Amino acid sequence: MNLLIIRLIIFAVLFFAGLKLYRMYREWKLDREELLESDDTRQEGGQMVRCSWCKVHVPESDALRDQGEWFCSTAHLDRYLQEQQEQKPDEKE
Ligand SMILES: [Zn+2]
Repeated sequence: MNLLIIRLIIFAVLFFAGLKLYRMYREWKLDREELLESDDTRQEGGQMVRCSWCKVHVPESDALRDQGEWFCSTAHLDRYLQEQQEQKPDEKE
């Protein structure tokens, strides 16, 4: 009988510990996401956009836009377009 109670207590402790860890993890994750989001908007020069080639964030005023994608420089725009053409299936039969 005593053993059963001890097992129950251990189970309850483990359960709550797991729940607490899960909540801590969720809060930590939310905090990180908020931090990342606020970092993007806090920068000067308006909205931050991500280069589709190198994934670097640049201010919208410094970025180039092409086909709905953002790029940090013409070099990356060219490389991105080049890669897209290479990825397209060969249409000649
Ligand atoms: Zn880039």
